Amino acid sequence: MELLTVLEQIDEEAKVIETTSAKGFKLWMPKRVVFTPDALDEPYGQQIYERAKSLNLNIELLKNNRITGLRGATERETYKIAKNTLAIVNAPKSAFNLRPIPPSADWQFHLAEGCPAHCQYCYLAGSLQGPPAIRVFANLPSILENTVKYERLNQVTSYEASCYTDPLSLEHITGGLAETIKFFGQRPMSHLRFVSKFDAVEPLMGLEHNGHTRFRCSLNADAVARRLEGGTPNVTARIQALRKMALPKVQGGGGYPIGVVLAPIMPIPGWEDAYDDLFNQLQQNINFDCDLTFELISHRFTPGSKDVLMEWYPNTSLDMEESTRATKRNKFGGTKYVYNREQMQLLKSFFESEIKTRFPNAKVLYWT
Ligand code: SF4
Repeated sequence: MELLTVLEQIDEEAKVIETTSAKGFKLWMPKRVVFTPDALDEPYGQQIYERAKSLNLNIELLKNNRITGLRGATERETYKIAKNTLAIVNAPKSAFNLRPIPPSADWQFHLAEGCPAHCQYCYLAGSLQGPPAIRVFANLPSILENTVKYERLNQVTSYEASCYTDPLSLEHITGGLAETIKFFGQRPMSHLRFVSKFDAVEPLMGLEHNGHTRFRCSLNADAVARRLEGGTPNVTARIQALRKMALPKVQGGGGYPIGVVLAPIMPIPGWEDAYDDLFNQLQQNINFDCDLTFELISHRFTPGSKDVLMEWYPNTSLDMEESTRATKRNKFGGTKYVYNREQMQLLKSFFESEIKTRFPNAKVLYWT
């Protein structure tokens, strides 16, 4: 089926859009939704426009393709304004030159940039420039078609869609993740991966993904999530969403391959018990055979990300003390601060052994 026909059909189905997730988490509603003229020329841009209208969001149609009005008098104010702004724009030409993203996937591509949550360690700090507004790309059909050029011959190619956003956090307004999943469902040798801290998975049920999309849930110890992951559903709700996505379709689930991204792992006081509780909860909910992977990511930061985070969250209790960390150089000569070797080893063995004991059939994709 043509992608645009699918878009039209979905739009019909989505006439009534939920405003809370199944667990009652209030879905994000931006205070301001701006559309550039180019974005409105796109059928998918029109679809988002109709959805935003039906949600009674405050819509602004811009005269040119530049987003303005994102700056406040202070950095804090700018943060607040930007995090409440959803901009529907066209992805620039550079977005069509895909970049590799090891160890997660072969290629990364982007449905959007920015995220409405407020994690005090946010991975986007320092990677995206300017005020942290949420930009959704209206030229989605071309972005998806472009991925085909990157397919390898006779080999499965994987594509990561959540490097610069949490796509599920925006799905109630955009519907773009469902389109993307269906697109990859029709490509036998292309696999999609995305990760989310959100739990509103209902719109992803019943899609023909053909096992080509892996939904990964980003989890942490409850104490870390409560303290540092503002604007996200709690850990229990996320695990229930993960269960729903993994359950076979005949049992009312999504039948997706799933994954758990444990990140950022932190040796907080009592960390073994805290993460043990998390594994208990996971084990109770993922208590059936399924295709399950784990990705283990310890906390790290760079001088640049620390500066941005300290502007966004000046009162954060997140530990970013350089003197207690080891340094690592990336391939471009930049520095990142990681836990020291002994701590890393301790954490790594704990997590790998917990997973081996509790989920013997799951695959640990990497520790970093
Ligand atoms: S969910 Fe991810 S992208 Fe969004 S604020 Fe948290 S860390 Fe950043």
